Amino acid sequence: MTRLILATRNAGKITELRAILAEAGLGHELVGADAYPEIPDVKETGVTFAENALLKAHALAQATGLPAVADDSGLCVDVLGGAPGIFSARWAGRHGDDKANLDLLLAQLGDIADPHRAAHFACAAALALPDGTERVVEGRLRGTLRHEPAGDGGFGYDPILQPDGETRTCAQLTAAEKNAISHRGEAFRALVPVVRELLG
Ligand code: IMP
Repeated sequence: MTRLILATRNAGKITELRAILAEAGLGHELVGADAYPEIPDVKETGVTFAENALLKAHALAQATGLPAVADDSGLCVDVLGGAPGIFSARWAGRHGDDKANLDLLLAQLGDIADPHRAAHFACAAALALPDGTERVVEGRLRGTLRHEPAGDGGFGYDPILQPDGETRTCAQLTAAEKNAISHRGEAFRALVPVVRELLG
């Protein structure tokens, strides 16, 4: 059985990709990067989600000698020209302060009216092999930004993104409902034929 490593310490992402691979009938064993604690985190110096996902996947494949998957994601707001984009996790200046990031974004959008509040979550998922072979795929979840947060589920900007065709925000969906339509779910599902092609 081929072992595949995912560049994350987030158990939710590992479970999600593992389920998608199993559902597709792929018998690869998926482990998280915390199975290799000695590997340092990679600097995300790319200017696109795809570049950052590839940087992380290549670094992990080189360090472990295993095929490696990495993802990079964020929120892209139309009226802000795609920002926060790759800076989504540190939009308010400090990495990972979800509440500060969300509050700043809402303030920046001020009284921008609903027709101008279109946005999407984007995710790039990359697969890199130790020999340097690489592939990258992308997924999107389109929606509209609310004026106030709603819902306790999810993380990041979930409480303000209402997916197209929904009356609830992402933070009001169950994990299964969100995974079924999410940018990450779409990107991970697009990896299935890539894994099949490169790893059999
Ligand atoms: P990462 O690529 O998973 O580290 O995500 C980067 C940042 O994008 C997160 O810190 C969030 O601010 C934002 N983000 C990415 N995906 C989501 C999502 O599904 N819901 C809410 N925020 C997200």
